Amino acid sequence: MKKYDVLIIGASTTGCWFAQRMAANGFRTLVIEKELPDDVSRSYDIFHMGQGEMEQFGLEVPEEGDSVREFRFTGSPMISPYGEYRKYAGNLPVIGLHKHDYIMKMAEKAKKSGARILYGAKFTKLLYDEKGRVIGCEYETSEGTQQAYARIVSDCSGIPSVARTTLPDTSAVENFKLTPIDIFYVVLYYVEYLDKSINPRDLDGFFMQYKSWSAPAGEGYDAILGIGGSYSYAYSEEVFNTQFMKNVTFPEFKVKKVEKGMTPWHRSVYSFVDDGFIAMGDAACLTKPTCGEGCTSSLVQGEIAVEVISQLLKYSDFLTKEKLWSINSRYMKVQGKDFDSMRPLLMGLVSMNFDEAEYLFANDVIFSDKILGGMDDGLVIGANDVADMVKGITKGIAKKKFRAETLGKIVKGLVNMIRVGTLYDAYPETPDGFEEWKAKADKLWEEIGTLANTCDPEIKEKLGIE
Ligand SMILES: Cc1cc2nc3c(=O)[nH]c(=O)nc-3n(C[C@H](O)[C@H](O)[C@H](O)COP(=O)(O)OP(=O)(O)OC[C@H]3O[C@@H](n4cnc5c(N)ncnc54)[C@H](O)[C@@H]3O)c2cc1C
Repeated sequence: MKKYDVLIIGASTTGCWFAQRMAANGFRTLVIEKELPDDVSRSYDIFHMGQGEMEQFGLEVPEEGDSVREFRFTGSPMISPYGEYRKYAGNLPVIGLHKHDYIMKMAEKAKKSGARILYGAKFTKLLYDEKGRVIGCEYETSEGTQQAYARIVSDCSGIPSVARTTLPDTSAVENFKLTPIDIFYVVLYYVEYLDKSINPRDLDGFFMQYKSWSAPAGEGYDAILGIGGSYSYAYSEEVFNTQFMKNVTFPEFKVKKVEKGMTPWHRSVYSFVDDGFIAMGDAACLTKPTCGEGCTSSLVQGEIAVEVISQLLKYSDFLTKEKLWSINSRYMKVQGKDFDSMRPLLMGLVSMNFDEAEYLFANDVIFSDKILGGMDDGLVIGANDVADMVKGITKGIAKKKFRAETLGKIVKGLVNMIRVGTLYDAYPETPDGFEEWKAKADKLWEEIGTLANTCDPEIKEKLGIE
């Protein structure tokens, strides 16, 4: 019988990072990955991570000249819907990397620390003991069905969440499957500008109203023009073609390559842990609410998990939900609260039409260097800022540049942001009281809805989206 301390499902960024940390701490660690090494994480090529975050989580920052590293840039502005106004939105260094190659480097580092990675090993089911506690999993390889046992099983399988979604309804960890309203469908256009005198970096920035951006793309391309949206790639492409490309003037370009991929756009699961089990990374919906990036944001929960699980593996025989619970309570009160309370505010902000948003950019209301510049340290909106926003918007209403109805939606977003924050502050310290907390959270989220609710009704109708 194969017996490990830690069994990880999925050898992408989260799985390799967690494996490396646990093996380096001296624990017998196995990772099973359904793909063969050459095929891991091939859906898109270039991704980026903040250099500071990479250092914070012990991720190697490849030197300039290393083929896995494509570029480094510092910050990009937030740009108004018609491209007229650019507001400073942070200035921290960001490293662009080739995803597959970087994951392979992470895997090598995990192996050097003592982890075993089995490629071509597809998870099929969790194994439980007589008390219903997770004790391992079954997986398929070219040699047939295999079993592996471990003191903790970690689901790092991304959106399919192959283990989490098979947990019983009675588990503290929710077993929902992500549906098209919970997913951000990203389309990346790698472009080349025809006019060679243009500096593509002058055009870079984020266009919140379309959930679109222009960013560096590395050797052979001038930029990535990217877009994300709910429901389907078709929805994102439609917004790109009929709104973003129509309202913002870009120099003429040719599209040299298109990539598509999905990332969760859903609040995090309420509990990551159950007896012998933890959900991590995209499988726990730990992506940033603003852009769907998750490689480093998921490691905030990862760091807590490494600390708590390492202690427990040393001193406990069985890792019960009670013993693992502090991973939940510590995470939910910090990043969990910040990320999930931002969702209702974003819903309020993207309810503006393009003219309204352009007016706010022009008048430094909400979209100001001061507010957006705070993003480097985590966006903090004080009472004075809120008062300034309301004053600026009220002026806009008087000048008929802003609808009272939109102000109502933004205020509702702010109120809901506070309600989510207050609820997450009260996250239970032990599993006692969790069911009651969960019932309140379900009620609140049902009332708030999801970011998909802000999608354009005309495009939805055109594409036949219910
Ligand atoms: C187009 C696009 C661009 C993005 N850009 C960025 C970016 O610039 N920066 C950033 O931080 N984030 C970015 N993201 C988000 C980022 O890709 C994810 O948050 C991150 O990859 C999540 O890592 P993960 O390890 O949790 O899951 P995944 O990367 O999804 O990995 C899951 C792994 O589990 C394996 N697996 C699945 N099922 C099984 C099974 N049955 N058995 C065994 N193994 C299995 C998969 O093969 C895979 O290797 C982007 C997403 C997209 C779609």
